[in-house]
Amino acid sequence: MIYLDNAATTKPCEAAKAGVMKGLEVFGNPSSLHRCGLDAELLVTDARTAIAESLGCLAEEIFFTSGATESSNTAIFGAYKSQGKRKHRVVTTTIEHPATARPIDELERLGCEVIRISPDENGVISAEAVADAVNEDTFLVSMMLVNNETGAVLPVSKAFNAIHRRFPKVITHCDCVQGYMKLPIKTKTLGADLISLSAHKICGPKGVGALYIRKGLHIPALLMGGGQEKNMRSGTESVPLICGFGEAVKHYSKNVAERLENSRKLESLLFELCKKNGGIGINFRGEKSPYVTSITVDGLKSEVLLHYLEKRGIFVSSGSACSKGKKSGVLAEFRIPVQAMDTTLRISFSPDTTEEDLHGLMEGISAAQSELARLK
Ligand code: PLP
Repeated sequence: MIYLDNAATTKPCEAAKAGVMKGLEVFGNPSSLHRCGLDAELLVTDARTAIAESLGCLAEEIFFTSGATESSNTAIFGAYKSQGKRKHRVVTTTIEHPATARPIDELERLGCEVIRISPDENGVISAEAVADAVNEDTFLVSMMLVNNETGAVLPVSKAFNAIHRRFPKVITHCDCVQGYMKLPIKTKTLGADLISLSAHKICGPKGVGALYIRKGLHIPALLMGGGQEKNMRSGTESVPLICGFGEAVKHYSKNVAERLENSRKLESLLFELCKKNGGIGINFRGEKSPYVTSITVDGLKSEVLLHYLEKRGIFVSSGSACSKGKKSGVLAEFRIPVQAMDTTLRISFSPDTTEEDLHGLMEGISAAQSELARLK
């Protein structure tokens, strides 16, 4: 099997699986006062510490959630409840994941003024364009680090730090889902008050994520109840999933730079193979994460090719996993022509991706080009 759909989800690593098992065996409720509870709480604390160390922040700044969707909803509605009644403007981009875009649409329905910054003709979102849209009336800026469809890296640090210099009270949120454990991310340099993370994109289990909340920033919770996670996220902690998340982070945080270098080499090979093929274009070649590449295969509809490749044991995506066949508004924002959008595939790497995988992918695409062309 050649699995190249890692931006949708990754295969859990052995460390994460062992972590989940450990969390199932230590079955106590972390809120219980007896030893079983304490043992479970220790596992949660250990995972929290691992994530905090990977980001260079305090363990008390990390809150576990059910995934990045919940983290971003908590961040966005929390910012609104804490400041949005007095201020009205939200600044974001047109290429955010729905986990950010939909809650912001909801703020617009609630009466906020939403400014959405589009990429320029080269597919680039400039830090200046984002920072310039912020005014005295702004309470939230939300901008992703790595786009999940093209791999574009956004100038988050530059934009957020410029914004905070002029407007220290503006709350900055960053969806770091596709950048975490792939690019070196430190909370101090990123300048985000709130950061959304997801475990299943970093070889951890599904259904768990985290929200970084900068110490000193107070936002109300989305879920209320028993007061877990220092009242930020009520509900009994999923110890197995949290433990699996923590173990994945421990496993991968040691060699982020080394893996990035390796991914760059794989990305170069992918570009080279596309060029050699002659019928494949790269949709976005600006500043990008090597882990995600959007390509277009001339004349072959994405879904037809996706299923053809699937039959050969090769798994890719026709866009982003959650758009399930729907035309992607995000690709249009990158000025990818409508025709090319219909023939787009997303290739995304994991730490396990090899050169052989990419050669296998290209053989599959070439076979499809000759076979399907013959049928035309
Ligand atoms: N943000 C980005 C950029 C993503 O790629 C995804 C997942 O597809 C999410 C947010 C949502 O993450 P989760 O599945 O943990 O809710």
